[in-house]
Amino acid sequence: MFLTISTTGTPESPATDLGFLLHKHPDKAQAFSTSYGTAHVLYPEADVERCTAGLLLEVDPVALVRRGKGKGRGGAPDAALAQYVNDRPYAASSLLAVALSSVFSSAMRGVCASRPERAAQPLPLRVEVPVLPARGGPALVRRLFEPLGWTVSAEPVALDTAFPEWGDSRYVSLVLESATLTLAEALRHLYVLLPVLDDAKHYWVASDEVDKLLRAGQGWLPGHPEQKLITSRFLSRRWALTRQAMERLELVRLAEADDSAVEEIDNAVAAETEAEEKPTPLAVLRRDAIVAALDASGATRVLDLGCGQGQLVQALLKEPRFTEIVGLDVSMRALTIASRRLKLDRMGERQASRVRLLQGSLAYTDKRLKGYDAAVLSEVIEHLDLPRLPALEYAVFGAARPRTVLVTTPNVEYNVRWESLPAGHVRHGDHRFEWTREEFGGWARAVAERHGYDVEFVPVGPDDPEVGPPTQMAVFSLRPTGTRTTDTTTEKEAKAA
Ligand code: SAH
Repeated sequence: MFLTISTTGTPESPATDLGFLLHKHPDKAQAFSTSYGTAHVLYPEADVERCTAGLLLEVDPVALVRRGKGKGRGGAPDAALAQYVNDRPYAASSLLAVALSSVFSSAMRGVCASRPERAAQPLPLRVEVPVLPARGGPALVRRLFEPLGWTVSAEPVALDTAFPEWGDSRYVSLVLESATLTLAEALRHLYVLLPVLDDAKHYWVASDEVDKLLRAGQGWLPGHPEQKLITSRFLSRRWALTRQAMERLELVRLAEADDSAVEEIDNAVAAETEAEEKPTPLAVLRRDAIVAALDASGATRVLDLGCGQGQLVQALLKEPRFTEIVGLDVSMRALTIASRRLKLDRMGERQASRVRLLQGSLAYTDKRLKGYDAAVLSEVIEHLDLPRLPALEYAVFGAARPRTVLVTTPNVEYNVRWESLPAGHVRHGDHRFEWTREEFGGWARAVAERHGYDVEFVPVGPDDPEVGPPTQMAVFSLRPTGTRTTDTTTEKEAKAA
Protein backbone atom coordinates (compact mmCIF):
# COMPACT_ATOMS: atom_id res chain seq x y z
CA MET A 1 0.00 0.00 0.00
CA PHE A 2 1.65 3.07 -1.20
CA LEU A 3 0.88 6.71 -1.73
CA THR A 4 3.11 9.60 -2.70
CA ILE A 5 2.62 13.33 -2.37
CA SER A 6 4.85 15.62 -4.42
CA THR A 7 5.27 19.33 -4.77
CA THR A 8 7.48 21.66 -6.74
CA GLY A 9 9.25 24.80 -5.56
CA THR A 10 11.62 27.68 -6.15
CA PRO A 11 14.56 28.98 -4.12
CA GLU A 12 12.20 31.43 -2.34
CA SER A 13 9.72 28.72 -1.44
CA PRO A 14 11.59 25.44 -1.68
CA ALA A 15 9.77 22.20 -2.37
CA THR A 16 11.43 20.70 0.69
CA ASP A 17 9.06 22.76 2.85
CA LEU A 18 6.82 19.77 2.33
CA GLY A 19 8.86 18.11 5.09
CA PHE A 20 7.92 20.89 7.52
CA LEU A 21 4.30 20.82 6.47
CA LEU A 22 4.11 17.07 7.01
CA HIS A 23 6.14 17.31 10.22
CA LYS A 24 8.44 14.63 8.82
CA HIS A 25 12.03 15.45 7.97
CA PRO A 26 13.07 14.62 4.39
CA ASP A 27 16.53 13.45 5.40
CA LYS A 28 15.56 10.37 7.27
CA ALA A 29 13.18 7.51 6.66
CA GLN A 30 10.85 7.04 9.60
CA ALA A 31 8.67 4.21 10.78
CA PHE A 32 5.53 4.42 12.92
CA SER A 33 3.72 1.50 14.31
CA THR A 34 -0.05 1.61 13.80
CA SER A 35 -2.76 -0.79 14.87
CA TYR A 36 -2.55 -2.67 11.59
CA GLY A 37 1.17 -2.75 10.90
CA THR A 38 4.01 -0.36 10.28
CA ALA A 39 3.76 2.91 8.38
CA HIS A 40 6.95 4.18 6.76
CA VAL A 41 7.47 7.76 5.62
CA LEU A 42 10.25 8.21 3.09
CA TYR A 43 11.31 10.80 0.56
CA PRO A 44 12.35 9.35 -2.81
CA GLU A 45 13.33 12.89 -3.87
CA ALA A 46 13.89 16.07 -1.89
CA ASP A 47 15.42 19.19 -3.36
CA VAL A 48 14.49 22.80 -3.96
CA GLU A 49 12.62 22.10 -7.21
CA ARG A 50 10.91 18.83 -6.35
CA CYS A 51 10.05 16.98 -3.21
CA THR A 52 8.13 13.74 -2.89
CA ALA A 53 6.98 12.13 0.33
CA GLY A 54 5.90 8.50 0.25
CA LEU A 55 3.69 6.74 2.76
CA LEU A 56 4.12 3.00 2.73
CA LEU A 57 1.99 0.83 4.94
CA GLU A 58 3.21 -2.62 5.74
CA VAL A 59 0.13 -4.45 6.91
CA ASP A 60 0.33 -7.13 9.52
CA PRO A 61 -2.53 -9.50 8.63
CA VAL A 62 -2.51 -11.05 12.08
CA ALA A 63 -2.93 -7.70 13.82
CA LEU A 64 -5.71 -6.97 11.39
CA VAL A 65 -7.62 -10.12 12.24
CA ARG A 66 -7.09 -9.75 15.97
CA ARG A 67 -8.25 -6.20 15.91
CA GLY A 68 -11.30 -7.00 13.84
CA LYS A 69 -12.34 -9.69 16.30
CA GLY A 70 -11.58 -7.66 19.38
CA LYS A 71 -13.74 -4.65 18.64
CA GLY A 72 -17.13 -4.26 20.31
CA ARG A 73 -20.31 -5.75 18.82
CA GLY A 74 -18.46 -8.92 17.91
CA GLY A 75 -16.12 -7.16 15.49
CA ALA A 76 -16.27 -7.10 11.72
CA PRO A 77 -18.10 -9.87 9.88
CA ASP A 78 -15.83 -12.82 9.16
CA ALA A 79 -16.38 -13.01 5.42
CA ALA A 80 -15.40 -9.39 5.09
CA LEU A 81 -12.38 -10.02 7.24
CA ALA A 82 -11.18 -12.84 5.04
CA GLN A 83 -11.23 -10.45 2.13
CA TYR A 84 -9.21 -7.83 3.99
CA VAL A 85 -6.56 -10.36 4.75
CA ASN A 86 -6.50 -11.33 1.10
CA ASP A 87 -6.10 -8.04 -0.63
CA ARG A 88 -5.48 -5.51 2.13
CA PRO A 89 -1.71 -5.83 2.22
CA TYR A 90 -1.42 -4.91 -1.44
CA ALA A 91 -4.01 -2.27 -2.12
CA ALA A 92 -4.17 1.27 -0.88
CA SER A 93 -7.39 1.54 1.01
CA SER A 94 -9.09 2.56 4.17
CA LEU A 95 -6.08 1.27 6.10
CA LEU A 96 -3.90 3.72 4.26
CA ALA A 97 -6.37 6.47 5.10
CA VAL A 98 -6.17 5.62 8.77
CA ALA A 99 -2.37 5.57 8.61
CA LEU A 100 -2.48 8.92 6.83
CA SER A 101 -4.52 10.47 9.59
CA SER A 102 -2.36 9.09 12.37
CA VAL A 103 1.04 9.80 10.81
CA PHE A 104 0.10 13.21 9.39
CA SER A 105 -2.48 14.29 11.96
CA SER A 106 -1.08 17.82 12.45
CA ALA A 107 -0.72 18.32 8.72
CA MET A 108 -4.31 17.26 8.23
CA ARG A 109 -5.38 19.94 10.66
CA GLY A 110 -3.27 22.48 8.81
CA VAL A 111 -1.00 23.07 11.81
CA CYS A 112 2.60 24.05 11.10
CA ALA A 113 4.39 26.14 13.72
CA SER A 114 7.55 26.71 11.67
CA ARG A 115 5.83 27.55 8.35
CA PRO A 116 2.33 28.75 9.27
CA GLU A 117 1.96 30.89 6.14
CA ARG A 118 2.90 27.95 3.90
CA ALA A 119 0.35 25.70 5.60
CA ALA A 120 -2.41 28.15 4.77
CA GLN A 121 -1.37 28.55 1.12
CA PRO A 122 -2.29 26.41 -1.85
CA LEU A 123 0.62 24.35 -3.18
CA PRO A 124 1.29 22.70 -6.50
CA LEU A 125 0.46 19.12 -5.50
CA ARG A 126 0.63 15.74 -7.14
CA VAL A 127 -0.69 12.64 -5.42
CA GLU A 128 -0.12 9.15 -6.74
CA VAL A 129 -1.74 5.96 -5.58
CA PRO A 130 -0.53 3.19 -7.90
CA VAL A 131 -3.07 0.56 -6.81
CA LEU A 132 -6.34 1.91 -5.51
CA PRO A 133 -9.40 -0.30 -5.08
CA ALA A 134 -12.19 1.73 -6.69
CA ARG A 135 -15.71 0.42 -6.70
CA GLY A 136 -17.42 2.47 -9.35
CA GLY A 137 -14.28 2.62 -11.50
CA PRO A 138 -12.49 5.61 -13.05
CA ALA A 139 -15.77 7.44 -13.67
CA LEU A 140 -16.63 7.58 -9.99
CA VAL A 141 -13.04 8.53 -9.12
CA ARG A 142 -13.47 11.58 -11.34
CA ARG A 143 -16.90 12.44 -9.95
CA LEU A 144 -15.43 12.44 -6.46
CA PHE A 145 -12.20 14.37 -6.99
CA GLU A 146 -12.87 16.75 -9.88
CA PRO A 147 -15.42 18.93 -8.05
CA LEU A 148 -12.73 19.56 -5.43
CA GLY A 149 -10.32 21.13 -7.88
CA TRP A 150 -8.21 18.10 -8.78
CA THR A 151 -7.14 17.14 -12.27
CA VAL A 152 -7.70 13.41 -12.25
CA SER A 153 -6.07 10.59 -14.11
CA ALA A 154 -7.49 7.19 -13.20
CA GLU A 155 -6.38 4.27 -15.30
CA PRO A 156 -7.94 0.85 -14.75
CA VAL A 157 -5.35 -1.73 -13.69
CA ALA A 158 -5.45 -4.86 -15.85
CA LEU A 159 -6.00 -8.10 -13.93
CA ASP A 160 -2.91 -9.57 -15.52
CA THR A 161 -1.01 -7.84 -18.28
CA ALA A 162 -0.03 -11.25 -19.69
CA PHE A 163 -3.72 -12.02 -20.24
CA PRO A 164 -5.41 -8.85 -21.54
CA GLU A 165 -8.57 -10.88 -22.31
CA TRP A 166 -9.18 -11.19 -18.56
CA GLY A 167 -10.09 -7.52 -18.54
CA ASP A 168 -9.61 -4.97 -15.80
CA SER A 169 -9.41 -5.53 -12.07
CA ARG A 170 -11.37 -3.44 -9.60
CA TYR A 171 -8.27 -1.31 -9.08
CA VAL A 172 -7.23 1.91 -10.68
CA SER A 173 -3.94 3.68 -10.83
CA LEU A 174 -4.64 7.19 -9.59
CA VAL A 175 -2.82 10.47 -10.20
CA LEU A 176 -4.25 13.72 -8.81
CA GLU A 177 -2.90 17.16 -9.54
CA SER A 178 -3.90 20.54 -8.25
CA ALA A 179 -2.42 23.95 -7.62
CA THR A 180 -5.39 25.37 -5.77
CA LEU A 181 -5.48 23.29 -2.59
CA THR A 182 -3.60 23.44 0.67
CA LEU A 183 -1.83 20.32 1.86
CA ALA A 184 -4.32 19.94 4.71
CA GLU A 185 -7.24 20.03 2.30
CA ALA A 186 -5.58 17.46 0.08
CA LEU A 187 -4.98 15.11 3.01
CA ARG A 188 -8.55 15.46 4.19
CA HIS A 189 -9.86 14.64 0.72
CA LEU A 190 -7.75 11.49 0.67
CA TYR A 191 -8.70 10.52 4.20
CA VAL A 192 -12.38 10.50 3.28
CA LEU A 193 -12.38 9.49 -0.38
CA LEU A 194 -9.92 6.56 -0.32
CA PRO A 195 -12.19 4.47 1.93
CA VAL A 196 -15.24 5.69 0.00
CA LEU A 197 -13.74 4.24 -3.18
CA ASP A 198 -12.62 1.10 -1.42
CA ASP A 199 -16.14 0.72 -0.03
CA ALA A 200 -15.11 -1.98 2.42
CA LYS A 201 -14.02 -0.39 5.62
CA HIS A 202 -11.86 -2.62 7.72
CA TYR A 203 -13.22 -1.65 11.09
CA TRP A 204 -16.69 -1.67 12.48
CA VAL A 205 -18.13 1.78 12.00
CA ALA A 206 -19.07 3.42 15.27
CA SER A 207 -20.94 6.63 15.77
CA ASP A 208 -17.76 8.68 16.25
CA GLU A 209 -17.21 8.06 12.53
CA VAL A 210 -19.81 10.73 11.88
CA ASP A 211 -17.66 13.22 13.76
CA LYS A 212 -14.55 12.12 11.91
CA LEU A 213 -16.32 12.50 8.59
CA LEU A 214 -17.64 15.95 9.37
CA ARG A 215 -14.31 17.13 10.69
CA ALA A 216 -12.42 15.88 7.65
CA GLY A 217 -15.17 17.07 5.34
CA GLN A 218 -15.18 20.61 6.68
CA GLY A 219 -15.11 23.14 3.90
CA TRP A 220 -15.64 20.72 1.03
CA LEU A 221 -18.14 17.97 1.80
CA PRO A 222 -21.18 20.21 2.34
CA GLY A 223 -22.36 20.92 -1.17
CA HIS A 224 -20.23 18.26 -2.89
CA PRO A 225 -22.39 16.85 -5.72
CA GLU A 226 -21.74 13.30 -4.45
CA GLN A 227 -22.27 14.22 -0.80
CA LYS A 228 -24.85 11.50 -0.25
CA LEU A 229 -22.79 8.71 -1.79
CA ILE A 230 -19.67 9.82 0.08
CA THR A 231 -21.53 9.95 3.37
CA SER A 232 -23.25 6.62 3.01
CA ARG A 233 -20.16 4.75 1.85
CA PHE A 234 -17.88 6.33 4.43
CA LEU A 235 -20.32 5.22 7.10
CA SER A 236 -20.52 1.74 5.58
CA ARG A 237 -24.16 2.26 4.69
CA ARG A 238 -25.34 2.41 8.27
CA TRP A 239 -28.53 4.24 7.52
CA ALA A 240 -29.13 5.87 10.85
CA LEU A 241 -25.60 7.27 10.86
CA THR A 242 -25.83 8.38 7.27
CA ARG A 243 -29.05 10.23 7.99
CA GLN A 244 -27.51 11.84 11.02
CA ALA A 245 -24.51 12.95 8.97
CA MET A 246 -26.66 14.25 6.13
CA GLU A 247 -28.76 16.27 8.52
CA ARG A 248 -25.67 17.74 10.10
CA LEU A 249 -24.13 18.52 6.73
CA GLU A 250 -27.28 20.31 5.71
CA LEU A 251 -27.11 22.30 8.88
CA VAL A 252 -23.47 23.13 8.34
CA ARG A 253 -24.36 24.36 4.91
CA LEU A 254 -27.16 26.52 6.27
CA ALA A 255 -25.41 27.88 9.32
CA GLU A 256 -22.01 28.06 7.66
CA ALA A 257 -20.33 25.96 10.30
CA ASP A 258 -22.00 27.34 13.35
CA ASP A 259 -20.72 24.80 15.86
CA SER A 260 -23.36 25.26 18.53
CA ALA A 261 -26.17 24.59 16.08
CA VAL A 262 -24.42 21.45 14.90
CA GLU A 263 -24.14 20.23 18.45
CA GLU A 264 -27.78 20.87 19.11
CA ILE A 265 -29.10 18.85 16.22
CA ASP A 266 -26.47 16.24 16.98
CA ASN A 267 -27.89 15.63 20.43
CA ALA A 268 -31.38 15.48 19.07
CA VAL A 269 -30.59 12.85 16.50
CA ALA A 270 -28.32 10.84 18.79
CA ALA A 271 -31.30 9.61 20.78
CA GLU A 272 -33.09 8.65 17.60
CA THR A 273 -30.01 6.84 16.32
CA GLU A 274 -29.83 4.67 19.44
CA ALA A 275 -33.37 3.51 18.92
CA GLU A 276 -32.76 2.82 15.27
CA GLU A 277 -29.62 0.73 15.51
CA LYS A 278 -31.59 -2.47 15.08
CA PRO A 279 -33.08 -2.29 11.61
CA THR A 280 -36.75 -3.07 11.10
CA PRO A 281 -37.16 -6.26 9.07
CA LEU A 282 -37.93 -5.58 5.43
CA ALA A 283 -41.17 -7.59 5.59
CA VAL A 284 -42.44 -5.21 8.27
CA LEU A 285 -41.40 -2.13 6.28
CA ARG A 286 -43.22 -3.60 3.30
CA ARG A 287 -46.44 -4.18 5.23
CA ASP A 288 -46.26 -0.66 6.67
CA ALA A 289 -45.78 0.80 3.19
CA ILE A 290 -48.72 -1.21 1.85
CA VAL A 291 -51.03 -0.19 4.69
CA ALA A 292 -49.99 3.45 4.22
CA ALA A 293 -50.70 3.31 0.48
CA LEU A 294 -54.07 1.65 1.11
CA ASP A 295 -54.89 4.40 3.60
CA ALA A 296 -53.97 7.05 1.09
CA SER A 297 -56.26 5.45 -1.47
CA GLY A 298 -59.19 5.44 0.92
CA ALA A 299 -59.87 1.75 0.26
CA THR A 300 -62.01 -0.20 2.71
CA ARG A 301 -62.61 -3.45 0.77
CA VAL A 302 -59.28 -5.01 -0.04
CA LEU A 303 -57.92 -8.07 -1.86
CA ASP A 304 -54.61 -9.62 -0.85
CA LEU A 305 -53.72 -11.63 -3.94
CA GLY A 306 -51.11 -14.32 -3.29
CA CYS A 307 -51.65 -13.76 0.42
CA GLY A 308 -49.32 -16.59 1.43
CA GLN A 309 -49.46 -17.31 5.15
CA GLY A 310 -51.70 -14.36 5.91
CA GLN A 311 -49.40 -11.84 7.61
CA LEU A 312 -50.81 -8.88 5.69
CA VAL A 313 -54.41 -10.06 6.16
CA GLN A 314 -53.70 -10.19 9.89
CA ALA A 315 -52.27 -6.66 9.86
CA LEU A 316 -55.25 -5.33 7.91
CA LEU A 317 -57.71 -6.97 10.32
CA LYS A 318 -56.26 -4.86 13.12
CA GLU A 319 -57.39 -1.70 11.32
CA PRO A 320 -61.16 -1.30 11.68
CA ARG A 321 -61.39 0.91 8.58
CA PHE A 322 -60.84 -2.17 6.38
CA THR A 323 -64.32 -3.62 6.39
CA GLU A 324 -63.73 -6.49 4.01
CA ILE A 325 -60.46 -8.33 3.52
CA VAL A 326 -60.06 -11.22 1.11
CA GLY A 327 -56.90 -13.29 0.93
CA LEU A 328 -56.40 -15.44 -2.14
CA ASP A 329 -53.65 -17.94 -2.79
CA VAL A 330 -53.05 -20.86 -5.09
CA SER A 331 -51.45 -22.86 -2.30
CA MET A 332 -53.81 -24.79 0.02
CA ARG A 333 -50.94 -25.28 2.43
CA ALA A 334 -50.31 -21.55 2.70
CA LEU A 335 -54.04 -20.95 3.25
CA THR A 336 -54.18 -23.55 6.02
CA ILE A 337 -51.33 -21.81 7.83
CA ALA A 338 -53.01 -18.44 7.24
CA SER A 339 -56.25 -19.67 8.71
CA ARG A 340 -54.44 -20.98 11.79
CA ARG A 341 -52.57 -17.68 12.16
CA LEU A 342 -55.83 -15.73 12.01
CA LYS A 343 -57.59 -18.22 14.32
CA LEU A 344 -60.50 -18.15 11.90
CA ASP A 345 -62.31 -20.97 13.71
CA ARG A 346 -62.29 -19.10 17.03
CA MET A 347 -63.08 -15.67 15.68
CA GLY A 348 -66.17 -13.76 16.82
CA GLU A 349 -68.90 -13.34 14.23
CA ARG A 350 -68.23 -9.68 13.66
CA GLN A 351 -64.54 -10.17 12.94
CA ALA A 352 -65.22 -13.28 10.89
CA SER A 353 -67.57 -11.34 8.66
CA ARG A 354 -64.68 -9.04 7.67
CA VAL A 355 -62.32 -11.71 6.39
CA ARG A 356 -62.32 -14.53 3.85
CA LEU A 357 -59.64 -16.80 2.48
CA LEU A 358 -60.05 -18.11 -1.05
CA GLN A 359 -58.15 -20.69 -2.99
CA GLY A 360 -57.60 -19.71 -6.60
CA SER A 361 -55.06 -18.91 -9.27
CA LEU A 362 -54.22 -15.49 -10.56
CA ALA A 363 -53.52 -16.99 -13.95
CA TYR A 364 -57.29 -17.12 -14.58
CA THR A 365 -59.97 -14.50 -14.38
CA ASP A 366 -62.06 -14.98 -11.28
CA LYS A 367 -65.51 -13.45 -10.80
CA ARG A 368 -65.07 -13.50 -7.02
CA LEU A 369 -62.43 -10.75 -7.35
CA LYS A 370 -64.70 -8.14 -8.89
CA GLY A 371 -65.92 -5.02 -7.14
CA TYR A 372 -63.16 -4.37 -4.59
CA ASP A 373 -61.52 -1.00 -3.86
CA ALA A 374 -57.95 -2.23 -3.89
CA ALA A 375 -55.82 -5.26 -4.65
CA VAL A 376 -52.37 -5.99 -3.23
CA LEU A 377 -49.82 -8.18 -4.98
CA SER A 378 -47.07 -8.31 -2.39
CA GLU A 379 -44.00 -10.21 -3.59
CA VAL A 380 -46.12 -12.34 -5.91
CA ILE A 381 -45.35 -11.52 -9.55
CA GLU A 382 -41.78 -12.83 -9.32
CA HIS A 383 -43.20 -16.26 -8.41
CA LEU A 384 -44.83 -16.58 -11.83
CA ASP A 385 -43.00 -17.63 -14.95
CA LEU A 386 -42.66 -14.57 -17.18
CA PRO A 387 -44.93 -16.00 -19.92
CA ARG A 388 -47.74 -16.30 -17.30
CA LEU A 389 -47.54 -12.63 -16.38
CA PRO A 390 -49.92 -11.35 -19.09
CA ALA A 391 -52.57 -13.75 -17.74
CA LEU A 392 -52.18 -12.30 -14.22
CA GLU A 393 -52.21 -8.82 -15.71
CA TYR A 394 -55.52 -9.49 -17.40
CA ALA A 395 -57.08 -11.19 -14.36
CA VAL A 396 -56.24 -8.23 -12.12
CA PHE A 397 -56.20 -5.11 -14.29
CA GLY A 398 -58.49 -6.27 -17.08
CA ALA A 399 -61.16 -8.28 -15.26
CA ALA A 400 -61.16 -7.49 -11.50
CA ARG A 401 -60.25 -3.82 -12.11
CA PRO A 402 -60.07 -2.44 -8.57
CA ARG A 403 -59.51 1.30 -8.23
CA THR A 404 -56.10 0.79 -6.67
CA VAL A 405 -53.53 -1.94 -7.25
CA LEU A 406 -50.30 -2.21 -5.25
CA VAL A 407 -47.53 -4.39 -6.62
CA THR A 408 -44.29 -5.00 -4.74
CA THR A 409 -41.30 -6.95 -6.00
CA PRO A 410 -37.59 -7.17 -5.15
CA ASN A 411 -35.23 -4.66 -6.76
CA VAL A 412 -32.48 -6.91 -8.10
CA GLU A 413 -30.00 -4.01 -8.15
CA TYR A 414 -30.09 -4.03 -4.37
CA ASN A 415 -28.91 -7.65 -4.17
CA VAL A 416 -25.26 -6.56 -4.05
CA ARG A 417 -26.08 -5.00 -0.68
CA TRP A 418 -27.22 -8.23 0.96
CA GLU A 419 -24.11 -9.50 2.67
CA SER A 420 -25.15 -13.15 2.63
CA LEU A 421 -26.26 -13.23 -1.00
CA PRO A 422 -23.66 -14.65 -3.37
CA ALA A 423 -23.17 -12.56 -6.50
CA GLY A 424 -25.78 -13.17 -9.20
CA HIS A 425 -28.18 -15.05 -6.92
CA VAL A 426 -31.85 -14.26 -6.47
CA ARG A 427 -33.23 -13.81 -2.98
CA HIS A 428 -35.59 -16.73 -2.92
CA GLY A 429 -35.31 -20.15 -4.54
CA ASP A 430 -38.79 -19.82 -6.03
CA HIS A 431 -38.24 -16.46 -7.70
CA ARG A 432 -38.57 -16.92 -11.44
CA PHE A 433 -37.10 -13.49 -12.10
CA GLU A 434 -35.99 -10.36 -10.25
CA TRP A 435 -36.17 -6.99 -11.92
CA THR A 436 -34.13 -3.80 -11.93
CA ARG A 437 -36.00 -0.56 -11.25
CA GLU A 438 -36.01 0.09 -14.97
CA GLU A 439 -37.43 -3.33 -15.85
CA PHE A 440 -40.17 -3.09 -13.24
CA GLY A 441 -40.91 0.49 -14.26
CA GLY A 442 -41.20 -0.54 -17.90
CA TRP A 443 -43.58 -3.38 -17.12
CA ALA A 444 -45.72 -1.32 -14.75
CA ARG A 445 -46.03 1.65 -17.11
CA ALA A 446 -47.02 -0.62 -19.98
CA VAL A 447 -49.64 -2.35 -17.81
CA ALA A 448 -51.00 1.01 -16.66
CA GLU A 449 -51.17 2.26 -20.23
CA ARG A 450 -52.95 -0.85 -21.49
CA HIS A 451 -55.63 -0.80 -18.78
CA GLY A 452 -56.25 2.89 -18.10
CA TYR A 453 -54.36 3.31 -14.84
CA ASP A 454 -51.84 5.88 -13.62
CA VAL A 455 -48.80 4.49 -11.86
CA GLU A 456 -46.36 5.84 -9.29
CA PHE A 457 -43.35 4.19 -7.68
CA VAL A 458 -42.55 4.11 -3.99
CA PRO A 459 -39.26 2.84 -2.54
CA VAL A 460 -39.55 0.44 0.40
CA GLY A 461 -36.59 0.12 2.76
CA PRO A 462 -33.41 2.21 2.69
CA ASP A 463 -33.19 3.98 -0.67
CA ASP A 464 -29.55 3.45 -1.60
CA PRO A 465 -28.18 6.35 -3.65
CA GLU A 466 -26.68 3.95 -6.20
CA VAL A 467 -28.78 0.82 -6.32
CA GLY A 468 -32.12 2.03 -4.96
CA PRO A 469 -34.27 0.37 -2.29
CA PRO A 470 -34.48 -3.38 -1.55
CA THR A 471 -38.18 -3.49 -2.43
CA GLN A 472 -39.92 -1.52 -5.15
CA MET A 473 -43.62 -0.79 -5.05
CA ALA A 474 -45.87 0.37 -7.88
CA VAL A 475 -49.09 2.14 -6.93
CA PHE A 476 -51.66 1.93 -9.73
CA SER A 477 -54.75 4.16 -9.68
CA LEU A 478 -57.58 3.71 -12.10
CA ARG A 479 -57.95 6.86 -14.19
CA PRO A 480 -61.22 8.64 -13.38
CA THR A 481 -62.53 8.02 -16.88
CA GLY A 482 -61.32 4.46 -16.69
CA THR A 483 -60.49 4.59 -20.37
CA ARG A 484 -58.04 2.12 -21.78
CA THR A 485 -55.86 3.71 -24.41
CA THR A 486 -55.05 0.46 -26.12
CA ASP A 487 -56.65 -2.83 -25.42
CA THR A 488 -53.95 -5.20 -26.45
CA THR A 489 -54.34 -7.84 -23.78
CA THR A 490 -57.62 -9.40 -24.67
CA GLU A 491 -59.06 -12.21 -22.67
CA LYS A 492 -58.27 -14.58 -25.50
CA GLU A 493 -54.61 -13.58 -25.54
CA ALA A 494 -54.40 -13.90 -21.81
CA LYS A 495 -55.81 -17.42 -21.95
CA ALA A 496 -53.43 -18.35 -24.74
CA ALA A 497 -50.52 -17.18 -22.60
N1 SAH B 1 -47.98 -11.89 -0.25
C1 SAH B 1 -47.19 -12.64 0.69
C2 SAH B 1 -46.62 -13.94 0.11
C3 SAH B 1 -45.64 -13.80 -1.00
S1 SAH B 1 -45.03 -15.37 -1.54
C4 SAH B 1 -46.11 -11.77 1.26
O1 SAH B 1 -45.93 -10.66 0.81
O2 SAH B 1 -45.41 -12.20 2.16
C5 SAH B 1 -45.89 -15.58 -3.06
C6 SAH B 1 -47.25 -16.18 -2.88
O3 SAH B 1 -47.87 -16.18 -4.16
C7 SAH B 1 -47.20 -17.63 -2.44
O4 SAH B 1 -48.01 -17.80 -1.32
C8 SAH B 1 -47.73 -18.40 -3.64
O5 SAH B 1 -48.46 -19.55 -3.27
C9 SAH B 1 -48.59 -17.38 -4.30
N2 SAH B 1 -48.78 -17.61 -5.73
C10 SAH B 1 -47.87 -17.93 -6.65
N3 SAH B 1 -48.44 -18.08 -7.86
C11 SAH B 1 -49.75 -17.83 -7.70
C12 SAH B 1 -50.88 -17.83 -8.57
N4 SAH B 1 -50.75 -18.11 -9.87
N5 SAH B 1 -52.08 -17.54 -8.06
C13 SAH B 1 -52.21 -17.24 -6.75
N6 SAH B 1 -51.20 -17.23 -5.87
C14 SAH B 1 -49.98 -17.53 -6.34
